[in-house]
Amino acid sequence: MTTVQTTAERALALDLDGVLFNTRPVMQEAWRAVSERHGIDVPFEAYEQHLGRPFADIMECLGLVDIARLHQTYTEASKAASWLAQPFDGVEDVLHAFVAADWLLAVVTSKPLDRAAPLLAQLGCPFASVRARGGPGRGKPAPDPLLLVLVDLAIDPAAATYVGDMAVDHECARRAGVPYVHADWGYGAHGSPTPRVAHSPKDLLRLLDESGQTAPFIEGSLL
Ligand SMILES: [Mg+2]
Repeated sequence: MTTVQTTAERALALDLDGVLFNTRPVMQEAWRAVSERHGIDVPFEAYEQHLGRPFADIMECLGLVDIARLHQTYTEASKAASWLAQPFDGVEDVLHAFVAADWLLAVVTSKPLDRAAPLLAQLGCPFASVRARGGPGRGKPAPDPLLLVLVDLAIDPAAATYVGDMAVDHECARRAGVPYVHADWGYGAHGSPTPRVAHSPKDLLRLLDESGQTAPFIEGSLL
């Protein structure tokens, strides 16, 4: 977690899995390892219904026990398969466009920091705040990690936007009072009421336009 005092007026907070990175192949491998090692007969399709929540909460949703051992296996297998994670097309360009427009970047993820940090480092962007699982407060869908980002950045909820791909992200933003944009390229459906939807990372550049800032030209931009 990083805390900065700033005079910036806008911030873009993003989920990691299914928004910045396509980590589905990593998760599939990790869940396969858990299933095989612990004799669990729960298909990945059932596991991924609950993506966005902390791992322990997903296990509770699935009615599984001995969560600490399952988590250890999942963590080890995730690290071994981390090379399968790739940023979605356009993510790096879009993040740099927001930085160029003086927006602060933040990440709110249910992934532990030791697995989130190496991925975020690949993007080469200055994230002013990263709130990962294992920090203070409750995990998503509770608003706690997003509220902590607001404190980190010293900005109002209305000055931030949270981009997520699951209903738990939508609920987290709603409960934090932060405007929400649903990443349609991710893994899940949004909750209700229907939020704003971005169909690609480059679609997020509309936010710059709406805030009266000019986005640098990026090929394929909808602006
Ligand atoms: Mg996600």
